Amino acid sequence: MSAVGVRQVTGADVLQVLKGVEDPEMPISIVDLGIVEGVAVGEEGAVKVTLMPTFTGCPALEVIEKKVKDALKERLNVADVEVKWTFGGEWSTEKITAEGRVALKSFGIAVSPEPGKVECPYCRSHNVVRESAFGCSLCREIYYCNDCKNPFESMRRLVRVEA
Ligand SMILES: [Zn+2]
Repeated sequence: MSAVGVRQVTGADVLQVLKGVEDPEMPISIVDLGIVEGVAVGEEGAVKVTLMPTFTGCPALEVIEKKVKDALKERLNVADVEVKWTFGGEWSTEKITAEGRVALKSFGIAVSPEPGKVECPYCRSHNVVRESAFGCSLCREIYYCNDCKNPFESMRRLVRVEA
């Protein structure tokens, strides 16, 4: 039996908390990054969160898992949390929410609107060159803008790690 005044945690509550969980490598929440595939709350109040990694073998997976569990414990007092990673699907930058795109842009990280087309987040020029294939995280590439002379990062649209 639940204590009086304690209402059952809902999926919406969980999602709300997840919106406050930042990706360790990106300055946006895991919800805005589009890696939250599903949220389920069991009858006993156990929470199950299904996440899709931005690419298989991302070293941040354990960090994200811990952040999700800590946040749900702290904000909703849910201790029974299962984080499940799904490796079947394919994450791409198309899963990033509109809100997430705006936030990334304000941090100087470009999200290409279409493959092969990269826009400078500072001056919107397409006169850019790729400096290196990998940014500080595997999901990003470093570009240099020939017009405003700023280096910036761009999200890799689809991240595939070749074995
Ligand atoms: Zn520029």
